[in-house]
Amino acid sequence: MNRNIEAIGNKKFTAGQQAGLNWITVTFMVIFHAGAIAALFMLSWKALFISMALWWVSGSLGIGMGFHRLLTHRGYKTPKFVEYFLTFCGSLALEGGAINWVVTHRIHHAHTDNDGDPHTPRDGRWWAHMGWILRGTAQQHEESVMRRYAPDMMKDPVHVWMNRLYFVPLILSGIVLLAVGGWSLLFVGTFLRVTVGLHATWLVNSATHLWGTRRFETTDDSTNSWWVALLSFGEGWHNNHHAHPRAAKHGLTWYEIDINWYGIRALQFLGLAKNIRQISKEQIAAAAKPRFEELQKAA
Ligand SMILES: [Zn+2]
Ligand SMILES: [Zn+2]
Repeated sequence: MNRNIEAIGNKKFTAGQQAGLNWITVTFMVIFHAGAIAALFMLSWKALFISMALWWVSGSLGIGMGFHRLLTHRGYKTPKFVEYFLTFCGSLALEGGAINWVVTHRIHHAHTDNDGDPHTPRDGRWWAHMGWILRGTAQQHEESVMRRYAPDMMKDPVHVWMNRLYFVPLILSGIVLLAVGGWSLLFVGTFLRVTVGLHATWLVNSATHLWGTRRFETTDDSTNSWWVALLSFGEGWHNNHHAHPRAAKHGLTWYEIDINWYGIRALQFLGLAKNIRQISKEQIAAAAKPRFEELQKAA
């Protein structure tokens, strides 16, 4: 069973990387990047403030707390309506449907920095950052792969529909922004906000598999990076995450700022999150021990 999954993951990856450019994705990326540059000439405090809020809604509630820590890793449990709401927020990030995102990310964890990883910097820094979404089928998986990697979500008809229509919330939000604040709010709140959000997510795939510190001796290249964590609402504590993928809390000290974790704690406070998984004190201590011995040796 496990072998089968790996074989399918590998096959998909090879096919994706060898395939030519995906012109639909390339076209959208050109439009969004050009729109983001145009937005820089339309900035206002109002547009900036609303866009920052939307960035948090899509990037933190949606991608970090929703797509990643809840749907991919099931690091905590919420009532279904909260799960669907977070999924809706994640659709605003233009990172594809939640099921496709979850499958891609579960493949990343199954093959981190090895054959089959859809976006490892070992295949090139540009590839890991953005190149991988521009080629072949990227996050589009065959149904058999989706069923193997995300059977939990494929069983849920609401998720299947939200996955199919993932672009609808973004279009609706664009219409609302245009109606409320004109072209400037549409450009800043959609094109600039989405483009910045995409690069923040991509930095987790590129930068935190290249540069930073490592608390845990994992078999991959994952690192912790404070600046990626700030840009991605806490996802930059990526070495902590790869060492203990199911834990919902990635920042392990008070100075490892983890906005997504604060959001999950807020949900818990409201009675909307339970069964929250965390890295234990013993596991953190075990990671610190070799370092301490090294220091003693050095002294
Ligand atoms: Zn990773
Ligand atoms: Zn993960």
